[in-house]
Amino acid sequence: MKRGWVVLSTILLCQLSTVSKALADTVCIDPGHPSEIGNGATSKSISEIRAAWLVAQQMKKEFEAVGVKVVLTKSKETEMVKNRDRSRIANEAKADLMIRLHCDSQSGSGFAVYVPTKQGTAQGKTGPSDDVIKKCGLLGKPFHSTLVECLGGKLHDNGLMSDTKTAVGSQYGALIGSIFSEVPVVLVEMCRLNSKDDEAFIASKKGQDLMAKSLVKASLAAIKAIKEAENRGSSGVRGKTGK
Ligand SMILES: [Zn+2]
Repeated sequence: MKRGWVVLSTILLCQLSTVSKALADTVCIDPGHPSEIGNGATSKSISEIRAAWLVAQQMKKEFEAVGVKVVLTKSKETEMVKNRDRSRIANEAKADLMIRLHCDSQSGSGFAVYVPTKQGTAQGKTGPSDDVIKKCGLLGKPFHSTLVECLGGKLHDNGLMSDTKTAVGSQYGALIGSIFSEVPVVLVEMCRLNSKDDEAFIASKKGQDLMAKSLVKASLAAIKAIKEAENRGSSGVRGKTGK
């Protein structure tokens, strides 16, 4: 009986139609690559650039359906945008959250979620601010757990990690996109393209749609956690106006 309720609540949680009122004003979706880091991973049936672009397009539709404005960091799939400029676009939009989409090329399979946990320095800039780091600390868990629930075991969960665990993050102390971000930011490695199962998942329309829906729900859960902390005013996080 109890178990039945758990399953039901998970299904409801993952239905976008249950979102009655938009929590967020604006989100920034950043489909990764091409950037100064390169063109990213690829596989026989789909590239990282293509997968991130298609999922971003679907997310845009899902967000707009619940009244959330979406800003993309690219205007077309193959557009080259440097990582600092991707963050600038999110900053200028005063996004409630910047969601960065990537696919990994490591061995193994599954998705992983990364947030900044400390400042790094790159290109003469040290960041992100303590306020952004605090907000990312608040959003990580609800974002990750909602993503796990909504993906329903279709992909292996590699967990929630500090962005210092990435190759770029370990070099600079944080990802370049985190260092330059003035808004809460999360990066998702949606799958590992060297895994045949992951490749088949993300190359399929069904897989892309499930990923997009799950990421939108995860983003809304993350934004909710930040807004609640702002409203409480007890955790030291500031609202958008800086108050
Ligand atoms: Zn990438």
